[in-house]
Amino acid sequence: MTTHRTRMLIIGSGPAGYSAAIYGARAGMEPIVVQGLQPGGQLTITTDVENYPGFEDVIQGPWLMEQMQKQAEHVGTRMMWDTIVEVDLEGGSPFRAIGDSGDEYVGDVLVIATGAQAKWLGVPGEQELGGKGVSACATCDGFFYRGKKVAVIGGGNTAVEEALYLTNHSDDVTLIHRRDELRSEKILQERLFKSDKITPMWNKSVERFVAGENGALAKLELVDTVTGEKSELEVDGAFVAIGHAPSTELFKGKLPMDDGGYLLVEAGTPKTEIPGVFACGDVMDHTYRQAVTAAGTGCMAALDAERFLATLEFAAKEAAE
Ligand code: NDP
Repeated sequence: MTTHRTRMLIIGSGPAGYSAAIYGARAGMEPIVVQGLQPGGQLTITTDVENYPGFEDVIQGPWLMEQMQKQAEHVGTRMMWDTIVEVDLEGGSPFRAIGDSGDEYVGDVLVIATGAQAKWLGVPGEQELGGKGVSACATCDGFFYRGKKVAVIGGGNTAVEEALYLTNHSDDVTLIHRRDELRSEKILQERLFKSDKITPMWNKSVERFVAGENGALAKLELVDTVTGEKSELEVDGAFVAIGHAPSTELFKGKLPMDDGGYLLVEAGTPKTEIPGVFACGDVMDHTYRQAVTAAGTGCMAALDAERFLATLEFAAKEAAE
């Protein structure tokens, strides 16, 4: 077992973790990023990215994350190919984490950037057609379905917002929900029912995503959740919007979370309840969930980490005198 000591320990390697690392390294905190099971995070499983500022042309999600990783390394971040399996936050700074490799990581500040995962239906065709008609993010991919026929699956705020967003690109949006009542906020429902571009389809579950001859999504096989009757819907794009799950298993009982498992932070900051522990990106944000907002909160975490360390080091100096 090796112990890796740093002033700034970052868990997670999406835009939030890498941005925290870039700012942290430039502030001399010599960060360590423990990258986790999916280095680069959710963007590594998307294809075209058109909404990350700074690029005139369409870029690829995995390429963008590779650039962020290299930039973080270039300014002095150490990347670790390891997955944290245990954290010890008791007693305050320094904080300890144990990796899958058996190595120990000790940081004066801890930045949690473990992200979130879109929930999937888990039915045939869904995974295979990811990026070929099946997506979990209308804001990211809706543009590619301009003038085409699309469906959104789900009945919560995300599903309704995605359906409304898609009307910017498509005049033919079907919202497929497994019940006959939405759980989304009333104001969103009103907007949905007012739109002549959205058709709600009640009591239907998607059983299979089916490819056409070109290998891209062509139709959905549906089943009625009340009668059991089977049907089909031809679509070019389908957006699964049945919620996200934040990766916060490690912090259960150690940090406060909301009902959805998202880490709670002081409003408008990345500060958790424990001084020196910061959370940024999708792990603390179920509303915006964009690469650019995650990068923004990563930057905020690094700036607050720097201030925390300065206070800590000043106090230690005072005590020594
Ligand atoms: P929710 O958990 O609120 O809704 C998930 C929806 O997906 C539900 O309608 C649920 O159906 C459906 N669903 C779940 N599993 C399946 C399945 N296996 N098959 C078919 N349908 C399924 O998730 P959201 O992402 O919509 O929202 C998460 C949180 O984020 C909420 O607190 C929400 O309010 C918040 N949010 C807020 C926004 C805002 O304020 N503007 C925007 C987006 C999200 P059923 O209803 O039958 O359970």
